[in-house]
Amino acid sequence: MICLFCKNQDTEVIETRISENGTVVRRRRHCPKCQKRFTTYERVEDLPILVIKREGKRERFDPEKLRRGIIRATGKTTVTAQQIENIVTQVESEIKQGDATEIESKAIGNLVAKHLKKIDKVAYIRFASVFRRFVDVEEFEKEVKKLI
Ligand SMILES: [Zn+2]
Repeated sequence: MICLFCKNQDTEVIETRISENGTVVRRRRHCPKCQKRFTTYERVEDLPILVIKREGKRERFDPEKLRRGIIRATGKTTVTAQQIENIVTQVESEIKQGDATEIESKAIGNLVAKHLKKIDKVAYIRFASVFRRFVDVEEFEKEVKKLI
């Protein structure tokens, strides 16, 4: 790492600290030439995932927005806050596992529906009715019939 002050090519690391969650490494560096010290940060590159909306518009994937959507869809059901949290975490990691940097909003809807279905049928139906056009229509109808 080049010296911030004198541009000397050869600086030394005098201290390395890893942040609590392990995503940031902070290094204290010393320049033997000008004797100055500076800090560098090393971070995991977090590639933004873009969500493709129905109109083709793209926006950055936002777990908070996903959480709010699930909370809205699961109101008055037995789905707990912890279960919602688990779904958000799982869906986020499923999205990030692939190489794709873009995902259609209906694919996210399908992932959420898949997890909700395992937890609470009523919540799943409610969610699916909101995102009806995103889930398999036949499967949705089958589920509704089972409940009636
Ligand atoms: Zn220097």
